[in-house]
Amino acid sequence: MEEIKKILIIGEVGDKGFLEILKHSFNATVLFAESGEEALKIAYRTQPDFVFVGKFAFGNIDAFTTANIIFDAYNIPVLFVLNEKDLENDLYQETPYEIIYIPVSESKLSFQLGRARKSLTRFKKLVEKNELSETILNYLPGFVITLDERLTVKFVNKGRNHKVTFGKELLGTKFLESLEVTDRNKLLEAINKLECGASVSEKIDLTIRYEDSALPVSCDVYCVIFSDGTHEFILYCSDISGEIKSEPLEGNGLMAVLNNVPYGVAIISEGKFEFANPEFTRITGFPADELGGLNEWFEKAFPDKSYRDVVTETWKKEIDQKNIIKTLSIQCKNGDIKQIDFRANKIDDKKYIISILDITEQRKTREALDNYIRQLKLSKDSIEQKNIQLEKLNKELRESEEKLLELNRDKDKFFSILAHDLRTPFNAILGLSQLVADEYDELTKEEVVKIVKDINSAGKNLFRLLENLLNWSRITSGRAEFNPEKVDLFELVLTAVHLLKPNADAKEIKIENNVKPNTYVFVDEQMIESVIENLLTNAIKFTPRGGKISINISEQPDKYEISVSDTGIGISKENIGKLFRIDVPFSEYGTEKEKGSGLGLILCKESVEKHNGKIWVESEEGKGSTFYFTVPKAK
Ligand code: ADP
Repeated sequence: MEEIKKILIIGEVGDKGFLEILKHSFNATVLFAESGEEALKIAYRTQPDFVFVGKFAFGNIDAFTTANIIFDAYNIPVLFVLNEKDLENDLYQETPYEIIYIPVSESKLSFQLGRARKSLTRFKKLVEKNELSETILNYLPGFVITLDERLTVKFVNKGRNHKVTFGKELLGTKFLESLEVTDRNKLLEAINKLECGASVSEKIDLTIRYEDSALPVSCDVYCVIFSDGTHEFILYCSDISGEIKSEPLEGNGLMAVLNNVPYGVAIISEGKFEFANPEFTRITGFPADELGGLNEWFEKAFPDKSYRDVVTETWKKEIDQKNIIKTLSIQCKNGDIKQIDFRANKIDDKKYIISILDITEQRKTREALDNYIRQLKLSKDSIEQKNIQLEKLNKELRESEEKLLELNRDKDKFFSILAHDLRTPFNAILGLSQLVADEYDELTKEEVVKIVKDINSAGKNLFRLLENLLNWSRITSGRAEFNPEKVDLFELVLTAVHLLKPNADAKEIKIENNVKPNTYVFVDEQMIESVIENLLTNAIKFTPRGGKISINISEQPDKYEISVSDTGIGISKENIGKLFRIDVPFSEYGTEKEKGSGLGLILCKESVEKHNGKIWVESEEGKGSTFYFTVPKAK
């Protein structure tokens, strides 16, 4: 059985048995209202589960309008309670509401309540599809004709209280053509005023021609502006032919329109809310009598002072000159925040009309959509980004492949040059030793000693060259053992200096070691020793007699920078560019015709880089050179 707490009955339902069922079978609290006005108030305040509409004769708001508002604005299922004989009345047949014919059984009532709930849901779907206003307009007592901006008829309601029903023939026609010529100007004038900002026209009398007759009406024209900027005109017409009883426009008729439009409408008179329709109440949560003054509402709707100040400023500045159209964020009575489309127009010096449209859901959907689109764009961007990266990587790969091929070619070239260079000392050794063997008897002792010394020097050269070549090939092919360990750099330098002292002495060159003992580095001892040896060898080779070589060191956070300076011949800018490069073979004779291979510095570079260090040179021709390299500190 349905769980029902509260039920509102409007007017007379005429059957005690019916009430008994409600009270006892459903255990519901039953509230009563005598008029439409009273019903609206009670329904709003108590939010009953169901509203039953019987016959009522009091008040200005008729049963249908009351039902419409409760159903539409308050979202409460409505049921009409009728007697068998009301069956003959067509009006009831056409309502969207559930109709109970009494007497009714408990089970039938229960079934109908369920159906009334469903019909509310179905109806709400209509609202979403914008078909609601049409349904409601059909139940209004007067004629409602809507015209688009070009005054083409978009809609004509059924005009419930009129015997005459405009047929569909008006739809799609130019409305002006259905009017007497003199009336056309009246309507155009009214519309002109509306387009200049008025929201409701003054009442005008028109005669609408249809088929063979004509219907005199008195009408109000409203202008409705939609959120997309387009507008429509609504003519609310009362039949004044006198033949048919027609409800007066003021009061009931006008209110019925305002109460049923699908947006919130309020009228401000001398700063106070004079009227607010149910939709205005539904959106803001405030019933008309709780709204008080405009400023009061602003304080509740915009609790944040700075935001309120902006809204108030806009109102003050703009309301007298133009219509205000704004999207605002308001706080409702229950604390909810809603996005609204806010419009305000001036009616006269003291009156303003405000209309509000709840666009919170729309906004949310729109935001969700925007987000989705943004994400789509982002992922598209990131795919494009990745594509670009891939292309870049591809390009880099191609480039490095080409570089590798080139390096290989360079290496081949280098080896052919090397092979040629190797031949020179061999030629010397072979030629000179042959000379001694063949001519030994003819040679003086001094001559033999000189030749043997030359052979020894060529042999040394050859040995050094081979050693470098071997080391270099080991390192570049990855076959070299790399065993970094904590080493005292002072001792490494000392060993190298000791080894090369005879060469330096021979040219009367002084070597100064400025590295202090206990300078610990984390290196492969052999590799770094050979780097220092190579740099010292070069310094001796390219420094004239009597020169000086010094080895210096500077400490940095995690490394040492070692330098070997000489007072030698220096290197030209052009030649500096050729150093450390396997692709440009570069070797010159020393100051005393010492021969090299052009391999030493290349080997040094490989060794230093294996330690993640750097090697470079600063040099000035004629003054000397300084070679620098870095090695990691020992922890
Ligand atoms: P090489 O065995 O020919 O000395 P390197 O690679 O050690 O091979 O050096 C290449 C070239 O760099 C040398 O031939 C020389 O022209 C130049 N060079 C190297 N060190 C010095 C230096 N201290 N002073 C002047 N020139 C130098």
